[in-house]
Amino acid sequence: MQRSKLEQFVKTSASDLGFDLAGIAPAGPFREHEYFPRWIADGRHGEMRYLESRAENQQLKRASLASVAPWARSVIVCAVNYNSRAPYSTACPDPSRAWISRYAWGRADYHDVLLPRLRELEARLKERVSIAGSEAPRTWCYVDTGPLIERVFAEHAGIGWIGKNTCVINQQVGSWLFLGVILTSLPLTPDLPAPDRCGSCTRCLDACPTNAFPAAYQLDASRCISYLTIEKRGDIPEDLRDGIGRHIFGCDICQDVCPWNRKAPVSPLPQFAPRTELVNPSLDRISGMNVEEFREVFRRSPVKRTRHSGLLRNAAVAMGNSGNARFIPALLGLATGDDPVVAGHARWALRKLGAAEPDRKETGTP
Ligand code: SF4
Ligand code: SF4
Repeated sequence: MQRSKLEQFVKTSASDLGFDLAGIAPAGPFREHEYFPRWIADGRHGEMRYLESRAENQQLKRASLASVAPWARSVIVCAVNYNSRAPYSTACPDPSRAWISRYAWGRADYHDVLLPRLRELEARLKERVSIAGSEAPRTWCYVDTGPLIERVFAEHAGIGWIGKNTCVINQQVGSWLFLGVILTSLPLTPDLPAPDRCGSCTRCLDACPTNAFPAAYQLDASRCISYLTIEKRGDIPEDLRDGIGRHIFGCDICQDVCPWNRKAPVSPLPQFAPRTELVNPSLDRISGMNVEEFREVFRRSPVKRTRHSGLLRNAAVAMGNSGNARFIPALLGLATGDDPVVAGHARWALRKLGAAEPDRKETGTP
């Protein structure tokens, strides 16, 4: 089968399956991969140990696709826009209400939306190659879980450039994108990399409340609110709690301020339509949730990743940052609860609000 027809087949099929963007990258390596070992060595990944995983040849897996999938010749990158009509966090300044990241407002976990579509694309590709009389290609499919840095391949597949905020930005669609990748042994003709259109803009770098960008195009994930409120277990470093503001799950600020998101289109997928109760939710509601409610409300949501105790910990920090004394009774309840991490963060919040702390349980946390 003519190669150019196969590339076109991949893109048409991706579009039929509901992907907003699709492109093809070579298997690399790319110059962006050179940065990764230094980033890990500097501890910018915080406690996300899975990023340290190494191949048999001891190379960091994510720095070298060839060391984990030497057979891969091309990477198909697909993207789905998840933007909604709901306002940006920068337009909702009330510190007494919480903020959950835009990607987690829908009724479904995005992995469950993207992966079946990606697998269908993979199946169609194999079938197409087989029908043409060639041996079916080898493939691997991933949404987030692969041994590769998806956004590097997205850039080289022409999906978008990696902005100074380290997100993939498409000129027409913006940066509210979920990515999925298919590694394949097929030597497909790659697309051209997307050119950088950040120019002299520094809005994202200036707006980050925890100074998580040591420089443009570099993220210190260990300082990023998304990491601190989702991936980080246990205590959040005290010096970063003020900057977290009212964020209880993720952070959208560096994307909300990006001019390329001003006219971002709205996703038609019902799975990403926001549940209104999750957009700028009440801190009273979140801090009062018991574990059964948490499981029910976030059953199919990425928010479950932070676990019930993590969400209460984050809510305690947000209440402390609110400056609002009406949260003191709720914080007293959390400060005397059984979870030592939640209790420790509630005590911090009470001190921030100038309230007396309850008698200390033997929790071992500050
Ligand atoms: S997500 Fe928030 S904390 Fe993380 S880099 Fe962007 S603005 Fe900073
Ligand atoms: S805010 Fe400006 S610098 Fe940051 S990613 Fe968007 S265009 Fe680039």
